[in-house]
Amino acid sequence: MKELIIGNHVSFKKDTQLLGSVNEELSYGGNTFMFYTGAPQNTARCEINDIITEEAINLMKQSGIDLENVVVHAPYIINPANTANLEFSTNFLKQEIDRVEKLGVKRLVLHPGSHVNLGVDVAIKNIIFVLNECITPSTKVDICLETMAGKGSEVGRTFEELKEIIDGVKYNDKVKVCLDTCHLNDAGYDIANFDKILDEFDKVIGIDKIGCVHINDSKNTLGSHKDRHENIGIGTIGFDNLLNVIYNKRLEDVPKILETPYVGETDDSKEKNYPPYKFEIEMIRDKKFNEHLLEDIRSFYK
Ligand SMILES: [Zn+2]
Repeated sequence: MKELIIGNHVSFKKDTQLLGSVNEELSYGGNTFMFYTGAPQNTARCEINDIITEEAINLMKQSGIDLENVVVHAPYIINPANTANLEFSTNFLKQEIDRVEKLGVKRLVLHPGSHVNLGVDVAIKNIIFVLNECITPSTKVDICLETMAGKGSEVGRTFEELKEIIDGVKYNDKVKVCLDTCHLNDAGYDIANFDKILDEFDKVIGIDKIGCVHINDSKNTLGSHKDRHENIGIGTIGFDNLLNVIYNKRLEDVPKILETPYVGETDDSKEKNYPPYKFEIEMIRDKKFNEHLLEDIRSFYK
């Protein structure tokens, strides 16, 4: 059996850049990671420092992290579905692709966006326009469109919508999909039948188009269209169903990324201080749910 490719969302700071991200991941014990090149909710971005990048890549080689499996997430403020933002989205995405290529990263996750009140058809045309402006034959990164929960007017809540976008893009060998288990659940795809979901995905889009999987439990029920992530094994999807995704044979070459919430001092504390990833990765590798997950996280970081 191949080695599990697992990691989580880490930070990317102006001063330490990719090296800081690698060091953070090593502290959790993962062998891949995902980051935003700046804050997810804005588009302010720093210059990529090639010396730091080289140092980070050397450290990755020593530590068994394959750059091919590393993922960047585009900021969710860009909304390629919305006509009013087309120029801004296009320009930002072009710059983001350049930054990601400069870092040597091969996978860029993008939310298809929300149509606001334009309707899905116009939104899909807009997304196709933006992707066609940004993807050229020399693009080296795969754009992974994320499956969405269907909150508000989000586009990409069904495989059929994603397929329509992919079909409209000229160089669509560079367009892939990022499955998110929380979003799938909230959109109405039951993770308890994950093999059936994969069969359906294969029929509509093609299994080789899966470029990344976000592993999250959900705070809400099947089909709730909410999108609120929960720690692994604590939400409505449950540990065993998530393990079936993580260890699925058909996805063994695809990086699995945790985007689960930080844990607070108490169950209802407002401030979420402690990263859950070290303990979540541990129980995933052990294939056994840790009944004391939250307590263990709190006492480790306190
Ligand atoms: Zn996600």
